[in-house]
Amino acid sequence: MVQVCVAFGANLGDARATVLRAIQEVGALPATQLQIASSLYASAPHEAEGPEFVNAVAMYATDLPPVELLDALQNLENLAGRERPFPNAPRTLDLDIVFYGDLALETPRLTLPHPRWQERAFVLVPLLEISADKVPTDSLVSVADQPIRRIG
Ligand code: AMP
Repeated sequence: MVQVCVAFGANLGDARATVLRAIQEVGALPATQLQIASSLYASAPHEAEGPEFVNAVAMYATDLPPVELLDALQNLENLAGRERPFPNAPRTLDLDIVFYGDLALETPRLTLPHPRWQERAFVLVPLLEISADKVPTDSLVSVADQPIRRIG
């Protein structure tokens, strides 16, 4: 099995409930088990629009190949009622693969590790809580201006 890190974000509807449900739904995918999930955090929109986001990250063990995992995550986004009226529009649920083991991949659909994860406090700060060894210290300094707080 491979250890993968998935980032969750939502800023429409009942965002807390959506993120909590999605963490469980990913763990219920075939050949996939939840290992550990962070607390929930609230962050100001960053490269996005609309109200404050609810964010979390979680680690899973999976046997799903990377593109099948992406397919499954996008299916969960669609089930959560996500529409994409324009780039970076507010979203009911956004799921990103932060990393997939040590795999480095660059294809039109999927880049691993996620190309911008080290620029995002809403990924780094929750990841610090559950897997501090994965978070480069320098990256935390560079996102210190992005407001984020733990909400439970
Ligand atoms: P977004 O609309 O922000 O959810 O962006 C999703 C798009 O990013 C999709 O078209 C994915 O194919 C692509 N993508 C590339 N790399 C990743 C990744 N590591 N995790 C999730 N989506 C990715």
